Amino acid sequence: PPRIGVLALQGDVGDHTAVLVGLGAEVIGVRRERELSSIDGLVIPGGESTAIATLARAVGLIAPLRDAIAGGLPAFGTCAGLILLADRIVDGIPGQQTFGGLDVTVRRNAFGAQIDSFETDLTVKALGPDPVHAAFIRAPLVAEVGRAATALAALPDGTVVAVRQGNVMGTSFHPEVTGETRFHRYFLEQVTARAVTR
Ligand code: GLN
Repeated sequence: PPRIGVLALQGDVGDHTAVLVGLGAEVIGVRRERELSSIDGLVIPGGESTAIATLARAVGLIAPLRDAIAGGLPAFGTCAGLILLADRIVDGIPGQQTFGGLDVTVRRNAFGAQIDSFETDLTVKALGPDPVHAAFIRAPLVAEVGRAATALAALPDGTVVAVRQGNVMGTSFHPEVTGETRFHRYFLEQVTARAVTR
């Protein structure tokens, strides 16, 4: 089975782990650089991007993660994870760093405060005709999709909330908390396809 690392510094690590294990992946928590060399793909959970970035910096993971993703390690981030995979962010805290990988600009906390969190159904063509039930929890939005990235899903008003660029994918919402497994399945397909061609 593919071996997936879940960045385990802060956030909903357990929810992602449960979905991935349910799909047959082998999952390890990533907290140290040495753990990166043994994984076929990386999931960055939802949580608080500023806390995850601060902790990643404290354990010396920013540059190794940036290099691994730039070097082709498949990565999937939800919410805070999307922020951390964005090449550019707005409304970050001063100096907030990301790992990059997605040629997009992401706006943090774009839908308001925690109390403005909401759930809605979205069409995601890449996942088939059945709608995705999406939970937005103090979520970011994709304010600009650069040339290298592709939008996977948008709200009815056109706001982009899921993107992909090669083996890197991010969603504003949390498929891991609504019983939605197709994003993780899609990610595992990308991981497996890469392993086969490598
Ligand atoms: N607001 C959080 C941040 O900026 C993201 C929230 C989430 O991951 N649910 O990191």
